[in-house]
Amino acid sequence: MPVPKKRTSKSRKGMRRSHDSLTVTGFGECPQCHEFKRPHHVCPHCGYYKDKEVIEVEAL
Ligand SMILES: [Zn+2]
Repeated sequence: MPVPKKRTSKSRKGMRRSHDSLTVTGFGECPQCHEFKRPHHVCPHCGYYKDKEVIEVEAL
């Protein structure tokens, strides 16, 4: 079983983990109302999809 010869320093550990952070993906901005929406889905805020094409109307 391999055993590390040198203990990983806090600096090295930090450098390695600098790439570990997660980024929020899978969200885009609606061009109509500028709210967050999922790509390839009708915007739940204004009911628009692909520029000006109305697919469903939001009733508030
Ligand atoms: Zn929208």
